[in-house]
Amino acid sequence: MKKKIALVTGITGQDGAYLANLLLNKGYKIYGTYRRSSSLNLWRLEELGILESIELLSLELLEKSNIERVIKLIKPDEIYNLAAQSFVSLSFENPIYTAQADALGVLRILESIRMIDKTIKFYQASSSEMFGEGVSKKLNEESRFHPRSPYAISKVFGHNITVNYREAYGIFACSGILFNHESPLRGTEFVTRKITSTLAEIQAGRKKFLELGNYYARRDWGYAGDFVEGIWKMMQNNKPGDYVLATGEEHSVKEFSTLAAKIMGFNLVWKGLKPNEYAIDKNTKKIIIKKNNDYFRPSDVLFLKGDAKKAKKYLGWKPKVKFKDLVKIMVESDKKRSLIGKIIQ
Ligand code: NDP
Ligand code: GDP
Repeated sequence: MKKKIALVTGITGQDGAYLANLLLNKGYKIYGTYRRSSSLNLWRLEELGILESIELLSLELLEKSNIERVIKLIKPDEIYNLAAQSFVSLSFENPIYTAQADALGVLRILESIRMIDKTIKFYQASSSEMFGEGVSKKLNEESRFHPRSPYAISKVFGHNITVNYREAYGIFACSGILFNHESPLRGTEFVTRKITSTLAEIQAGRKKFLELGNYYARRDWGYAGDFVEGIWKMMQNNKPGDYVLATGEEHSVKEFSTLAAKIMGFNLVWKGLKPNEYAIDKNTKKIIIKKNNDYFRPSDVLFLKGDAKKAKKYLGWKPKVKFKDLVKIMVESDKKRSLIGKIIQ
């Protein structure tokens, strides 16, 4: 039987690496795209030991000719569009670039599919950030969007245009509305990996403390390895659709960092009053975690919790890794990297 061909944009990112690993195990031929620059960001594929099994092609989301060239060359059965300027904070600094990549980038791919071959299946990496201003209830596919950043607003466009190309042109196009998912391969800008990597550096004596923004923000954090399984399942279903992937449990940044510090071996105790609390290590009396206003956002999302019932019902998907295990996996990985001096990625 002919191998299925998958095109994964953003293969150098966290989800790209895990999805590529999954697709390889499923017997796909994989083409992954990277951005051409002076240095290549291949450490995740190397860490999973799959770099040699993937064909890499350069693709910039802002260049429609790049997208057309790649699709015509490899004739994919499935396209997974994971590429994006994915950091919310940066989207406030570079809003126009973010919209170009995260909103119009999606349309460029969909237009290319429409013009070249409408039978290519398409997955769009949408985000729970689209729900935005938090209500303390579980959010699902029917919940209202109130995006709170240029990133989230661009993702709403990406989601809506995906739905539109499905309805207007009959393209098998899915939008996965994924709540935060983390792993040892998460970028160090994101709060979970920032916490685990910095704590490991403090323990190794290379950093003094961890500075955070709003540590009362709450997220529904799952494990990226589980979530890419859900992405693949959406694309194998008999009908295209939109699905929330989430754990249904939410925790604060403070809870994440407290647990991470405990697993790392600190004897942490919080002092002071909200919102100026700080954490010290009881053994050394040194400050380990403190607030830095530079990490606050012009508008933030304070609470996100998802309801993945639809994915469970129609795709048979549910997350396996629990919050405590996720924190442990990330701490242990950064501890190990720190011991061999390879922490900063
Ligand atoms: P990463 O930031 O780890 O990876 C993003 C990828 O996109 C990288 O490969 C990056 O390349 C590439 N990229 C960025 N800009 C461009 C561009 N202009 N042209 C081409 N490629 C580009 O993100 P994740 O793997 O965590 O997330 C994957 C997708 O899922 C993203 O779209 C993200 O917004 C979305 N998402 C992620 C969630 C999460 O919790 N992880 C939650 C919900 C949605 P380079 O290596 O060169 O930077
Ligand atoms: P996001 O949900 O995609 O924005 O993922 P992040 O990991 O970047 O942020 C999750 C939450 O943690 C947000 O509400 C941030 O405001 C909050 N947060 C608090 N301190 C920090 C920090 O130092 N860095 C980041 N990235 N987020 C922080």
